[in-house]
Amino acid sequence: MASFQDPAEALAGGRLTIDLAALRANYALIAARAAPARAAAVVKAEAYGLGAARVAQTLAQAGCRDFFVAMIAEALDLAPQVPADARIYVLNGLPPGAEAACAAAGVVPVLNSLGQVARWRAEARRRGARLPGVIQVDSGMSRLGLAPSDIDDLPTDLNDDVEVVLVMSHLACGDTPGAAANQEQLARFEALADRIGPGLPRSLANSAGVFIASEFRQDLVRPGLALYGAAPIEGVASPVLPVLRLDAKVIQLRTVEAGAGVGYGLTYVASTRRRLATVSIGYADGWPRRLGGRAAAYFGDVRLPIVGRVSMDSMTLDVSDLPEGALDEGDFVELIGPHQTLEAVAEAAETIAYEILTGLGKRFSRTYLTHDARVEIDA
Ligand SMILES: *Cc1c(COP(=O)(O)O)cnc(C)c1O
Repeated sequence: MASFQDPAEALAGGRLTIDLAALRANYALIAARAAPARAAAVVKAEAYGLGAARVAQTLAQAGCRDFFVAMIAEALDLAPQVPADARIYVLNGLPPGAEAACAAAGVVPVLNSLGQVARWRAEARRRGARLPGVIQVDSGMSRLGLAPSDIDDLPTDLNDDVEVVLVMSHLACGDTPGAAANQEQLARFEALADRIGPGLPRSLANSAGVFIASEFRQDLVRPGLALYGAAPIEGVASPVLPVLRLDAKVIQLRTVEAGAGVGYGLTYVASTRRRLATVSIGYADGWPRRLGGRAAAYFGDVRLPIVGRVSMDSMTLDVSDLPEGALDEGDFVELIGPHQTLEAVAEAAETIAYEILTGLGKRFSRTYLTHDARVEIDA
């Protein structure tokens, strides 16, 4: 029987449901775990695909005042959505030519090189006002940040022009609590931060870093993934609540006889009479092509295996285990939810939850839940 549909759902092939109450609860849990360190939120890449504006507004209500994005364009988009006393930091640094826009918007760049430090300082002088900045040091990941040898070359009077609000670095192996690299990075980070300024606030931990030893939490933690409901440490029971649910719409039902092939390449051939449902989601929606034959959808508690290859805009399920007539065109089946977690989907696709989340498509309708009630639907 076709379920009730709002207009946005009637038009879309898939439905993302984002539980803002769970998001708030996850922030509260992380903030309590991190205390006395402050808990920021990493909302880059549209808050890992969930919608940066809605996520940031919700977390601001929960008390968050520190938001990290990757790109300046993301920071400029986000600025009107957060309280005036919030800070937005740009992890990927200060590209040449972006100084004026960054300063005008009150955005805080993460300064990753001496050149970026020099250009931010010049911008402050041009404006005749000190500007806030973060200094990132490379404590061992070799990705972003000042090299240890750069630190002696920082201007001694930098503080006249740039208020260093944070010294930060990033863990390469945070999700592997026993990795020796974590302790090595911590020791290196603390030594480098001491050289920059012993009294300056510090930040090292991503989500995983919050849940390993307390010394990683420093003054500010920078969770992303755990806020969005995925287990921060692989193989360890998740301390956070799922935030995301994905359902796909049934667009056609059919019965095939033994010997019928399904999908591109006819890689699945029915061995007996099967009932099939084609759903309106494919790899163009970020649903990995690799999941053909490896994952399923669920209707109630019934597992509906994906048969054949995932197409660009659709894929086919074997629904023979459902009573005949249980599914109609327009019904939704669960792809990510209580029966098939985000982590399970990532594992079946041989990737990580981050890649699944950030890939999930723009063609879905989005429903944001607060408490348990449906409150607002974005097309
Ligand atoms: C993305 C990112 C984070 C957040 O990482 P999660 O593992 O999602 O918590 C924190 N810090 C930096 C520098 C990042 O690039």
